Amino acid sequence: EAEVALVGRSNVGKSTLMRELTGHSFDTGGKPGVTRSPNHYDWAAEDFVISDLPGFGFMSGVDEERREQIKTAIVQYLEAHAEDVLVAILVVDGKSVIDIIDRHSGPDEIPYDVEMFHFLRDLGIPTVVAVNKMDKVDDRDERLDELCDRLGLLPPWKQWQETIAPITAKKGQISSLNEAVREHLHEQKRDDL
Ligand code: GDP
Repeated sequence: EAEVALVGRSNVGKSTLMRELTGHSFDTGGKPGVTRSPNHYDWAAEDFVISDLPGFGFMSGVDEERREQIKTAIVQYLEAHAEDVLVAILVVDGKSVIDIIDRHSGPDEIPYDVEMFHFLRDLGIPTVVAVNKMDKVDDRDERLDELCDRLGLLPPWKQWQETIAPITAKKGQISSLNEAVREHLHEQKRDDL
């Protein structure tokens, strides 16, 4: 079954985005980091299902061991479903993502978001980074260029519109994401011909 996988840290706005994409409302309550098994929903606009993978990365009140379990579950899910996952959407918080990446970058440390981005690409899954909460970002181009740099993509970000999609999920401003995802889906249909 064809699917679009949604991944991202807790609190970046995945549930909000899901609501926008599908028109359904989702349980945003619950404790952060509580593993929800990947859920399947219809995406109104396209004939695919979306799997909402549990939040990963820093989760307050969740111990290291539990975080690792969640990460492992996500990785196993993606490895098992790599064939079916046509596009992955990695949601980040545009306001804080650079700080978080830089804080967790070091000789022995790869930040989760960067790791996940490369992991998805290594699995051959086309990945769109949905940079959410852009309503809170003033220096938009600069911020998006920095994100490209951290992800190993050569700035300017405007060269990467199939990969970097600035959005404000809360206000329903997600057209850049819809376009990026559609591009990837169409590319794959062409490849299948
Ligand atoms: P999740 O944990 O990733 O599912 O995140 P949620 O969807 O629950 O959102 C976390 C918080 O971010 C909530 O308070 C949302 O209202 C807020 N949020 C989500 N999208 C946006 C956005 O585009 N802009 C702003 N300013 N806040 C947002």
